[in-house]
Amino acid sequence: MALMKISRVASTIGFMLLAACSLTQSMELTPSPPTPRPTLPQSTLVPTAVRDTHTITTPSPAPTATLAAFDCTPTQDSAITHYGVSAEMQYAKRDVKVAQEIVYTNTTGIALSTIVFNVKTNWQPGIFRLQSIDLADGESLKSHLNGQQLEVKLPQPLNPACVAHINLKFDLHMPPIDIGGPHAYQGYLGYTGRQSNLGQWLPVVAVHNGTTWVTHEEIPIGEQDVLDIADWYVTFRITNAPNTIQIAAPGTSERLSDSEWHFTLSASRDFSFSIGENYRLLQQKSNSGVNVELYTFTDAIIPADTGTIDSAAFALTTAVKSVNLYESLYGDYPLKRLVIVEGDFPDGMEFSGIVFVGSEYFKGLNGVQSYLTIITAHEVAHQWWYARVGNDQAINPWLDEALATYSELVFIEKYYPTLADWWWEFRVNRLSPQGYVDSTVYEFTTRRTYINAIYLRGVKMLAELRATLGDDVFFGWLNHYSSEGSGRIMTPEQFWSLLTPEQLSRTESIRQIYLRKPQIIPLSTPACDSVTTCSPP
Ligand SMILES: [Zn+2]
Repeated sequence: MALMKISRVASTIGFMLLAACSLTQSMELTPSPPTPRPTLPQSTLVPTAVRDTHTITTPSPAPTATLAAFDCTPTQDSAITHYGVSAEMQYAKRDVKVAQEIVYTNTTGIALSTIVFNVKTNWQPGIFRLQSIDLADGESLKSHLNGQQLEVKLPQPLNPACVAHINLKFDLHMPPIDIGGPHAYQGYLGYTGRQSNLGQWLPVVAVHNGTTWVTHEEIPIGEQDVLDIADWYVTFRITNAPNTIQIAAPGTSERLSDSEWHFTLSASRDFSFSIGENYRLLQQKSNSGVNVELYTFTDAIIPADTGTIDSAAFALTTAVKSVNLYESLYGDYPLKRLVIVEGDFPDGMEFSGIVFVGSEYFKGLNGVQSYLTIITAHEVAHQWWYARVGNDQAINPWLDEALATYSELVFIEKYYPTLADWWWEFRVNRLSPQGYVDSTVYEFTTRRTYINAIYLRGVKMLAELRATLGDDVFFGWLNHYSSEGSGRIMTPEQFWSLLTPEQLSRTESIRQIYLRKPQIIPLSTPACDSVTTCSPP
């Protein structure tokens, strides 16, 4: 998330009134087959949905095999969690009925009597309503939903390396985006008259740190997620929608009929997408062939003295340049497509393979020296610092946010070098930032103080580290961190431990300025704290 405070709100956007939930159409769970399991990198297709909205293709056949609830058969397949989802949205009410199959491999090394899901949508009452939790053989499971933590009791211990097949059914009652209100920033899950955003709408198995399941309390400052990568197979139907709707989604996207889509996304931290009426699509390939797709509304074409300015085209160019630069510095972007959506909520927000950039930034474009430039570059950078390299966003938010914000400067230095001083003044110095970079999100009561400490003091720290280490060592370090952390959840100790003892010593005085805990205990090798990198015991 970029977390920029803006003064204007989109007051002209109409709302759909929230109405009572009353879905009557039945749904059958169509779980995706557990094998074969795709591995990264997986080739992806440009969606037919955006090329030809009337293309009708044959639906994928539903699997016929009956899954065992527990499976301890040794397998060579990947141990990452698989989510098979069948969902149906009643468009007028924006109510979604969801059947979700979870194929979870116990890589914790200990026998589990419970599995915990984090349910981000349950941040306030009335959005998430659980219907049932069963094992694949039909046995009902006891569960307890407390805030965003859904604890599910297993009828027997799930031993290490064994697989559990769990079916979850629930309803989502999407909220209208709280434009101008305190929850506007959570508009990545919500709707306006023209847009419905489903950001992190699916419960996910919590990360297990070897001792306990990790769930952080949601607050309206920063993010609080810790997400392992997973494979996603999603079938989504929309009923009673206008024929102008389009879906902006990452991964492969296939339109099965006028009202049904199928998506797959591999080795990613979330599956999030956006439904828009009359989206305008612009797309361009990066140097490496990544298809960068930008979905905007007509208000992204803004009036100017000389006619109009297409801020969508500007943002697309910015995004493509960002991908080119970050791939050269931080390593390959792992997917074939990157989706960028003009969001009907303030600021920006990152997800795997898709990011939102707030509508106000498009409308406010005024040359390169605009928020649209730096927020687009920022959100694209999160494809490396969040999507590729994970971290605990509640406890160590600087690991992704300081690096994404510093990437804005790297972008400016590369493409607009004469504007580097402008960036420092506009983005950082005029705000006189204070605070420890290694603070948690829970130490702040305002977004401004949070941004100042985590993002802005974070980039000042990174700039001093770069000045001390030199460009080659500094960017080599970030590249190493990116490759080491790919698909994992990294910690500050792992980040710092990629420096040599001499480099650590040389930079100690910088850490003493910016960090509450400047003492680094080097790790001999980065620890394994993610199921995706731990071998099953
Ligand atoms: Zn951010």
